[in-house]
Amino acid sequence: MISPDIQHWIFDLDGTLTKPVHDFTEIRGMLGLDLDSELGILEQLYELPRAARAPLFARLDAFELELAQTAEPSDGAHALLESLRSRGIRLGIVTRNNDINVDATLKAAGLDGFFDRDQVVTRETGPTPKPDPDGILHLVGRWSIEAERAVMIGNHLIDVEAGRGAGTITVLLDQNGVFEWGRPADFHIESLAELL
Ligand SMILES: [Mg+2]
Repeated sequence: MISPDIQHWIFDLDGTLTKPVHDFTEIRGMLGLDLDSELGILEQLYELPRAARAPLFARLDAFELELAQTAEPSDGAHALLESLRSRGIRLGIVTRNNDINVDATLKAAGLDGFFDRDQVVTRETGPTPKPDPDGILHLVGRWSIEAERAVMIGNHLIDVEAGRGAGTITVLLDQNGVFEWGRPADFHIESLAELL
């Protein structure tokens, strides 16, 4: 499937390396955001005045930390990362989550140790969050490779959009096999084990 020549693998975190638990409609409701907005949760928050934004980010961070602390690895995640690491493949993460929650998630899921901290791009690292390709471009720049030499694996349309925008190979994971956005990626899988 993915050519062995591809030596740089970038993952989304929540719902990709871990089992999906985020209910974004629930989160929008909890934060009092417009449920029908076309904008993502972060983008809706960024539009608010600073004084209104700060307490909502605090609630979001706290809610996501609770989820992080009970994170479970998705099927095949450990075996895949183990295999990639044994082949010397460089591993990165690009996530819309924040630093503390990413660390908590990886630890709870038993996936810490596979990723160097400076190859994990969060919403606090600097680049514009996905679906903007900025975070992926940040990593491939760090690796000094062309984006087409990397693969982006995620469970949401925005992961595919970010990968395509950057120019990577893309893989869309749907652990339920529903593919509600159709099949926009180069490869479509229902389990990370398929990538082994
Ligand atoms: Mg995800």
